[in-house]
Amino acid sequence: MIIDSIQMAIGDTPMLRFTHHQFEEIPKGSAIYAKLEYLNPGGSIKDRLGAYLIKEGIEQRKITENTVIIEPTAGNTGIGVAIAAQAAKLSTMFVVPEKFSLEKQELMRALGAEIVHTPTEEGIKGAIAEAKRLHAERSNSYLPLQFDNPANPEAYYHTLGPELIKDLGSSITSFVAGIGSGGTFSGVARYLLKHVPLIRLIGVEPEGSILNGGASHSHEIEGIGVEFIPTFLEGLPVHDFATISDAEGFAMTRRLAKEHGTLVGSSSGAAMAAALREVATLPAGSQVVTVFPDAGDRYLSKQIYSRTDY
Ligand SMILES: *Cc1c(COP(=O)(O)O)cnc(C)c1O
Repeated sequence: MIIDSIQMAIGDTPMLRFTHHQFEEIPKGSAIYAKLEYLNPGGSIKDRLGAYLIKEGIEQRKITENTVIIEPTAGNTGIGVAIAAQAAKLSTMFVVPEKFSLEKQELMRALGAEIVHTPTEEGIKGAIAEAKRLHAERSNSYLPLQFDNPANPEAYYHTLGPELIKDLGSSITSFVAGIGSGGTFSGVARYLLKHVPLIRLIGVEPEGSILNGGASHSHEIEGIGVEFIPTFLEGLPVHDFATISDAEGFAMTRRLAKEHGTLVGSSSGAAMAAALREVATLPAGSQVVTVFPDAGDRYLSKQIYSRTDY
């Protein structure tokens, strides 16, 4: 396969099928399909979002020549946006809470982005406030704001959703995916519902996220979990939320690496744990689809594969 730009390698990721042969928890005849989003060129599902945000911004003339793209991000969105911005010859500035993944910050810088730090204690909220301030200060800048922008779920509605239907048709029983901004889950779910009206929709959150009504507290699983219910979920017929502890999520992340050669981050481990719970409740012959959002090597400084305390 010859391609003329790295952007052309975004999407059309493989789906890895797991059956009883790989995971004895999966009933015979049933399967879990994991969409391997960590194989995108920037190492995460956010390459799709970055490409879509820049394309949409240009089409709607929110982005013109010399526009600086500003975005608050924990990292993967920055990497995805930086790759897309390069193709359009645009510069990028990302506002990142200081102690968030160092690997992701290195990757954003490597792609040519400028990084602005905010205090770690202020979390992503502090980064959002600073990004808004920088945007107001600069006349030719664009702030996509993934948490509010309907282009976020649309990116997945138009790309990931159709890829799942293309590969599996209407035989999907359940869609199980993590919720951070809620863009992936709601965009894909809305597309799948059009083709598989009876599909079961299961959102995945870490313990410390509030979707099941639990108390809000910090957690080690990265990329998913919310402090408020994302507006993207409004009106969506969600059947259930699976709440996964750090211990369960990291154990599954390590098992995926050690036994299945799948070097993914902890939100993928949590998604797999939830998919296994779901498939166990379903009759033989069921097909559960889940998503592995990013690669594990961007968490090596946090000993993702070697620590034993969770
Ligand atoms: C973005 C992301 C998610 C969740 O996706 P949303 O679309 O924001 O809900 C999960 N895991 C990782 C690592 C991510 O980067």
